[in-house]
Parts: sequence; C-alpha cells; structure tokens
Amino acid sequence: MLIDTHCHLNMYLHKRFGRDINSVLNQIQKNRILTVTTSLDETAFRQNLKIAKKSKYIIPTFGVHPWNASKYVNKIDSLKRLIKKSYIIGEIGLDYFFVKDKSKYAAQRRVFEVFLKETRNKVISVHTKGAEKDALRLLKRHRNKKVIIHWYSGDMGTLKKMIKEGYYFSVGPEIMFSDHSKKIVKSIPLKRILTETDNPGGPESIMGKKGMPILIKNVVVEIAQIKKKTSRQIEKVVEDNFKRLTECILPSPF
Ligand SMILES: [Zn+2]
Repeated sequence: MLIDTHCHLNMYLHKRFGRDINSVLNQIQKNRILTVTTSLDETAFRQNLKIAKKSKYIIPTFGVHPWNASKYVNKIDSLKRLIKKSYIIGEIGLDYFFVKDKSKYAAQRRVFEVFLKETRNKVISVHTKGAEKDALRLLKRHRNKKVIIHWYSGDMGTLKKMIKEGYYFSVGPEIMFSDHSKKIVKSIPLKRILTETDNPGGPESIMGKKGMPILIKNVVVEIAQIKKKTSRQIEKVVEDNFKRLTECILPSPF
C-alpha cells in the first residue's frame, strides 16, 4: 500500500491551490493511498477533520507549525486539549531557515516543548529545517521515541545521531532533484524509511507546480533506485515500518 505520511490536504481548499479537493480525494481513493494530513494550526486541523470524513484512507493530525508558534505561546491549555484529540501529531518542530527573525525562536522552542511533553506516547511528524541540532536536543530531552523526521535536509552528522535514536524519516519528492537528498536516503536504514509528498506546497517549491497525491509513486520509484530494490519491495517496507511505528492503533484500511 502506498503511504503518504506527511501532506496538507486542507491546503487544496485554498484559492492558491485551485480549491479542488474532489480530484485529490479521487486519486487517493483510486490508488488506495493511506494519507496522513498534517496541520499547521487549529483552523487547518478542523478542515482536515472534515476532509478525513470523506475517505477511510485519510488520517488527520493536529499540530502547530514553527512558523505559527508565536500565535500559540499564550494558548498552552488549548494546545493540550487539541493534542488529546489526535492519534498522530504534526506538523510540529523548529525552523531557523525560513524564519530569519531570531526573536521568534524562543516561542518556537516553547511550543515545540509543550508538544513533546504531551506526546511521549504518540507518533509525531517533526519539521527541523535549519534547526536540526536543536530539534534533536529537545527530542532527546523529552525522550520522545515515536518520531518521524519530515523532509530531513540537514548535515550528515546530525542525521547519524537521529538514526541512532531510532527515529523514522519521511522522504519526499526532493530526492528526485537533489544529490544531498539522495545521499541522505542512502544513509537511512530501510527499516526507518517512510514516504511523503508534503503536498501541495512542498512540491510546488521544488517543481514549480502543486503536487497531487499520485506523486508518492515517484518518490517510491526513486527510493527503490537508490536502495537497489523494486518499487514493490519499497512499498512493502514502508507499510511495515508505518505499521510498526503506529502499532496499528489507527482505524486502518490495511
Ligand atoms: Zn509540511
């Protein structure tokens, strides 16, 4: 089964992405793509909950993206309440790359740490762009173990430390274009690999157009080439990894 462990289905509702969710849902349904739709804030979570009602293949998750952390720093109680409503948590983490204003980093760390404290027994999807070392430090401090590092693009040394901690890595469309991404995938053991699209905006930033769910197939093909396996084998590996990580706690279409 194809699995997209990190995308943003609610964003297809935005004008920028054409407001066409039906063709997206059709692709998911037709190709049986198990799809984890992550949220950047509470509004996105509510939208994702609604979308998930339309397909058994969609799992909605609550999260606050580091870009939105400063809006939540004084709403810790409501964060805790929302975390309880979500089996998987995402997108959370730190971003020192796209966020240039350093005065916002303390709020990012504060909100990330609230999530980490509340989610020791949950699977979390973590953004680490430009903040890989700090993200690892906080993950270790709070002893979170069910960790998916989303779109890792940092240095090889921190990657090795994250592998040692037992984290999983969701690999996305960037491996089709970047040698550094290919090198990263080479280093990640097969039993820790997951797949993602970061649709629709992630692929847009590297390919110039919005991604559609079926893009996950290209990601699988690319990983298969790098790992010298067949696409079928990679699909199975990812399915096994996802089941092991989530321990089948989810209402599952497998
Ligand atoms: Zn994302």
